[in-house]
Amino acid sequence: MVIIMKTGATGKEIDAVVARIESMSFRAHAIYGEERTIIGVVGNDRPLDRTIFETMTGVETTVPILKPYKLASREFKKENSIISLFGNGTGVKVGGEDIVVIAGPCSAENRQQVLETAHAVKEAGAKALRGGAYKPRTSPYSFQGYGEEALKWLAEAREQTGLAVVTEVMAAEQVPLVSQYANVLQVGARNMQNFYLLNAVGMSMKPVLLKRGMMSTVEELLMAAEYILSNGNYNVMLCERGIRTFETSTRNTLDINAVPVLKKLSHLPVIVDPSHATGKSEYVTSTSRAAIAAGADGLIVEVHPDPSSALSDGAQSLTPEQFGDLVRQTRRIAQAMDRQI
Ligand code: PEP
Ligand code: MN
Repeated sequence: MVIIMKTGATGKEIDAVVARIESMSFRAHAIYGEERTIIGVVGNDRPLDRTIFETMTGVETTVPILKPYKLASREFKKENSIISLFGNGTGVKVGGEDIVVIAGPCSAENRQQVLETAHAVKEAGAKALRGGAYKPRTSPYSFQGYGEEALKWLAEAREQTGLAVVTEVMAAEQVPLVSQYANVLQVGARNMQNFYLLNAVGMSMKPVLLKRGMMSTVEELLMAAEYILSNGNYNVMLCERGIRTFETSTRNTLDINAVPVLKKLSHLPVIVDPSHATGKSEYVTSTSRAAIAAGADGLIVEVHPDPSSALSDGAQSLTPEQFGDLVRQTRRIAQAMDRQI
């Protein structure tokens, strides 16, 4: 349920509503808008009598949320959420008019590779740098990432370029360490339903890039986002990265439908990952164009100075030159959508 306060409701009236919610063992999530405050009521599955709140002073009305996800739903918040990657309301913002491109290697492999890629993608128009320090690999014998050392290269790249850093966190125990270096915590497809990890990134208050599980429905993705939001962290970006289908000509199938569906169902920004969605560099630019045309708020693209020598995901990685071309092409689509890159 959402409680909509009257325009000009006082702090005291809002506090009284929150106290009432909490006294009934529910949790209150207030959003203080410019015009009015709305309060989401979540926390347990018991039915709640709306009339209790409708008679309180300062309350305009209440609206039930019929979806299983509450705080992630458009019913809860009509306006698009805008997320500040530096977490201080300034700098790079995702979810507004600007389309944000995040780019960088699948894995941070060495200091030189990270710095070189960071400068190249910045030059081409990226606003954030991606790079894995902890890698979820199918085989335990594959390269697993360089851990904290890699986080240091990423942080140095941010200092040199001003790019925000996006990197994956694989376990709840890693959240404090990764948070020291990263601007955005990425939750990978394989961990989308690791609820313990979702709670941990929720408590961190850091912006989170939540990737859709390869076998997960849109509703499951939104329920995963709900875990993070329910901890009070509203800085969540949803990422469509391809789902597993019967098709074998590409690594995954980019569910382009998910973009308008998520935009309809949720106020959270939607990012598309054309690299993991296709698995082949030759398809990354065309699917990026499609993502922007479908209404995505951003892209996350794998770029490597020498894809053939990459320690992970070389086949889907673009060279810096190819990435420059991708940005030029997607910019034109963005303009057609009255947006900019
Ligand atoms: C990645 O971003 O390198 C990655 C492992 O992505 P996903 O979790 O979507 O497979
Ligand atoms: Mn990868």
